[in-house]
Amino acid sequence: MDPQKLWQQTLRQLELSLSKPTFQTWFKDKTSLVNLSEGIVEIGCPKTYSKEFVENRYGRLLKQIMSNLSGERLEVRFVVDPFLEKPKASQSPLEPTLFQTSEPTLEAQDKRISLANLNSKYTFESFVVGNNNRLAHAVAVSVAKSPAKSYNPFFLYGGVGVGKTHLMQAIGHEILKTHPKLSVLYCTGEAFTNEMIAAIQTKRTQGFRSKFRGIDVLLIDDISFIAGRDTTQEEFFHTFNDLHSGGKQIVMTSDRPPKDIAKLEMRVRSRFEWGMLADIQPPDTDMREAILLSKCKQQNLNLSSEVLHFLAENVTSSIRDLEGSLTRLVTTATMLGKPLDLNLARQAVGPSSSSINTPKRLAPKEIIETVCDYYSVKITDIKSHRRNAEIARPRQVIMYLLRTELGLQFMSIAKLLGGRDHTTIIHGVERIKKEVDNSGLVSGQIGEIKTLFNLN
Ligand code: ADP
Ligand code: MG
Repeated sequence: MDPQKLWQQTLRQLELSLSKPTFQTWFKDKTSLVNLSEGIVEIGCPKTYSKEFVENRYGRLLKQIMSNLSGERLEVRFVVDPFLEKPKASQSPLEPTLFQTSEPTLEAQDKRISLANLNSKYTFESFVVGNNNRLAHAVAVSVAKSPAKSYNPFFLYGGVGVGKTHLMQAIGHEILKTHPKLSVLYCTGEAFTNEMIAAIQTKRTQGFRSKFRGIDVLLIDDISFIAGRDTTQEEFFHTFNDLHSGGKQIVMTSDRPPKDIAKLEMRVRSRFEWGMLADIQPPDTDMREAILLSKCKQQNLNLSSEVLHFLAENVTSSIRDLEGSLTRLVTTATMLGKPLDLNLARQAVGPSSSSINTPKRLAPKEIIETVCDYYSVKITDIKSHRRNAEIARPRQVIMYLLRTELGLQFMSIAKLLGGRDHTTIIHGVERIKKEVDNSGLVSGQIGEIKTLFNLN
């Protein structure tokens, strides 16, 4: 295989297997294929520290992926590639600026997207419209076209993983694109609450207010989080009034309609219902298949219609799970060098749905070793009573995985980890679970660790 082609495919595979921040921090434009000859691949990294990090943490994964893709056993080595250090555009300052003119605007747009706190994946272009979301989509398009003029507020509700966050963020992207002067801010009800509490504690409520009240388009996801919290509701009420009377757009999402949100003050509930309410229903099989197909196209994946149909019929819990199965399926196929067929798909969504990543023979010892390897910490430190974050965090990840993957009792986990108190284990498992539920950084890391189980 042509080395550059192999490298491009390797990067694509890594992008699918790793969390987005990991891929961007360590691989995207940060690695190069320096040489490939006689079964030895040399991969370049910009600095010594990144070389060491990538080598330790991802060396094995790279070797596996590249060997499978090329069909021969490759050795992988890492070198420092100084050309990677500078962004290409600044390497030749004397070149005419003709080609650089579009760069700043693109960069500026990227900056606006990141200031607005939006995920670049969640656009209208990547949103599939079907019977379950047609009205919600139409309202969203209209809001994006004329913010604060058509439907204000727009209250979007529906179950878990049906596309609320995606559609809400699509409104934000579209407005940033077509209304260059408007500012957009996406935040969750939980983040709003936490920021407000922090502002009160540090006596910076003025700053908090001007931040939220100075926005042209406020997107608040999972607003029901503020229910039952008096101060937050009070603050939100005033923020809402300020924005609304100032002709600013507000969009909110929730897992249920306002009338079903318990412990919500009447005045706040009535604000939610002022504008337009629209729901997204769970997608049917055809819609799930259409969404899968669109995700495959985005990622340049070729799945037979048989496999697509099978996944769409069998993974019914949420679109997020459906996407998870797809990623697992593709990653495992590449890493184990197996064809992406119905057989593998059956395994991917089998009764213990994560079975593809966790073969039954997985032992506690393997989990502990893999996590230690992943975070580059020693097992003796994990079992010790040291409490610094570099040790405590991997330790909690181990607790979580021993519990969720093997179903071990808290007492047994406590014993395995050097005889701690079992309440410490409960706390550790809860903590990681919460972060995983909120798709924090650790959830990507856990996905990567599970992928490593496959390689052992
Ligand atoms: P919710 O906020 O309702 O829990 P999300 O917006 O986070 O759900 O959607 C979960 C996943 O499903 C996301 O990756 C999203 O891109 C995808 N998804 C949901 N609905 C659609 C759709 N109609 N078209 C494309 N992707 C979708
Ligand atoms: Mg959501």
